[in-house]
Amino acid sequence: MEKKEFQTESKRLLDLMINSIYTHKEIFLREIISNASDAIDKLCYLSLTDPGVGMVREDFKIVITIDKEKRTLTVSDNGIGMNEEELSNNLGVIANSGSLRFKQELEKSEKAGESAQPIDIIGQFGVGFYSAFMVADKIIVETKKYGEEKAYRWESEGADGYTVSGCAKENVGTDIIMHIREDGEEADEFSKYIREYTIYKLVKKYSDYVRYPIKMLMPHPELKEGSTKENPEYEEKFEYETLNSMEPIWQKPKSKVTEEEYKAFYKERYEDPDDPQFYLSVNAEGNIEYKALLFVPAHMPRNYDTEDFKPGLTLYSSGIKIIDHCEQLLPDYFNFVCGIVDSPDLNLNISREMLQQDRQLALIAANIEKKIKNELERMLKNDRDSYEKFYKNFGRRIKVCALDDYGAKKEVLQDLLMFWSSKEDHFITLSEYVEKMPEEQKFIYYASGNTNEGLDKLPQTEVLKEKNMDILYFTDKADEFVADMFRKYKDKPFRSVIDGDLGLEGEENKDNEKDTFPETFAFIKETLGDRIDEVKASTKLKSHPVCLTSGGGITFEMEKYFKAVSPNMPMKAKRILEVNTRHKAFLALDMARILEPEKGKKYCEIFYNQACMIAGLPVDDPSGYTDLLVSLWQ
Ligand code: ADP
Repeated sequence: MEKKEFQTESKRLLDLMINSIYTHKEIFLREIISNASDAIDKLCYLSLTDPGVGMVREDFKIVITIDKEKRTLTVSDNGIGMNEEELSNNLGVIANSGSLRFKQELEKSEKAGESAQPIDIIGQFGVGFYSAFMVADKIIVETKKYGEEKAYRWESEGADGYTVSGCAKENVGTDIIMHIREDGEEADEFSKYIREYTIYKLVKKYSDYVRYPIKMLMPHPELKEGSTKENPEYEEKFEYETLNSMEPIWQKPKSKVTEEEYKAFYKERYEDPDDPQFYLSVNAEGNIEYKALLFVPAHMPRNYDTEDFKPGLTLYSSGIKIIDHCEQLLPDYFNFVCGIVDSPDLNLNISREMLQQDRQLALIAANIEKKIKNELERMLKNDRDSYEKFYKNFGRRIKVCALDDYGAKKEVLQDLLMFWSSKEDHFITLSEYVEKMPEEQKFIYYASGNTNEGLDKLPQTEVLKEKNMDILYFTDKADEFVADMFRKYKDKPFRSVIDGDLGLEGEENKDNEKDTFPETFAFIKETLGDRIDEVKASTKLKSHPVCLTSGGGITFEMEKYFKAVSPNMPMKAKRILEVNTRHKAFLALDMARILEPEKGKKYCEIFYNQACMIAGLPVDDPSGYTDLLVSLWQ
């Protein structure tokens, strides 16, 4: 029989498991039982539509067998089983995301020079099948797949490889036979894993919620035949017992589950070392009946922005897992929520695809959306710090989805959004902004740029700040699109501070100043040519000499964005050069225009390039501009 090699990555993981000094080796049982339960889920689901399976929900079980003489612990399931190819593919390579992440974490800490620690973190990851090598020196897997004739046996003593051969097995399903190691010299005692009581305790501790019975022969002392009560003699009788309570955590009333238990459940199931940021346990009765347990992670899932991320809730019905990631149960904008929905009301005699169109399912989804939204609104109101933490992780998702379909979800999502307030110096909602607007303020002002610090210095904001008006700082690329798509919030239109018209009282009158320097303005326009659309006396500028405004429509931030995404078809914002006619620099330009026109032209160039820089626009010819500046001293 040919010995096959493990894939390199698996081999490393395996080595780690074999030589593990991890103290909670017992987690291996949880992993093996969870695989058995998954395999049963698959066949149980199939049994709904395929009468050939010939089993009903109650027939499925996991059986644990201990053989003290042979030192084996066997976990058997009557689930879907594996064929020859699956045996090699599933057990010869790292199949599981938990193991992969464990490996990555390991490499990270190795790079950081912390070679001894990684072993401490094994338990935080669903390290899967290989973890059994922490307690077993040989593992045999005998398995027969549903619908196939032949059974197969996989055997391995660890890192040097495994063999696969045919074997005799009558029933469909899988037996994992673990040959438990001899007790070592160190504190590690392995023999406990072939004692009924230890196994009973471990099942209770880690696998109590498994929804299929986990049965094992348990010893019961009984009076020996012939012995009397006065002179009792006992013998051990073995009877099958179901070790787990089988009641999943989401089926239990909230009052019967502690916060710690909910958190532990999340961490184990979703392979996250951190507590969730919050969870919701829902028990809906009445029109639609369902139970749900929902979690919002405390950080972005690692693969959130990749194709590997699978959104959706796990759907159960009457104790049968129907869909692993049911996307229909969550709106796009809450796709970071993970959890479980269990409803007895679903029509199981239809295919998964049809079920996804089910009216009942749509009702549950709408209800869940409401629950999540209510919880977020509650948090926003009563626990601002938590909401901000949540918003840092998932706010962008909500924002981007609010823009989808031309803002179709504006009404639902707008009150969950937050933006940085120049006045308050923290994040505020649009509703908070509008509430605090001075009476004469007509617009919701915003300024776009890369950082709050940069925006703080933006000349265009001076006049607004002087009037004690708040400005929302847009530092995320999507922010401006929100303003553009929403147009208004509670009847107050958005307006960029670089818009030519800020709609301030008395602004129009000052436009007359333009006439005061018609020749100077003409000179500037002539010098700068097509690079600008207009020169205008500014009503915004106080201490600064120039700025660019866009006059509504496309803003500079949008121009930059479009240039980045479609360089061949750039959209250009209008460029209005606003000058502060009371500034010394303007007066200097005006003087130079008359006395030294060549120098005057240079000043125009400086005005324009300064204004571009402030707007965050690239300077067309940086070295030419530097030469020009230097030439002023020559
Ligand atoms: P995971 O279960 O997280 O995918 P494991 O390393 O524990 O990773 O298992 C690898 C794969 O082996 C499983 O995904 C499954 O396809 C298969 N497998 C393991 N145990 C069983 C079992 N008892 N019955 C059927 N398939 C199994």
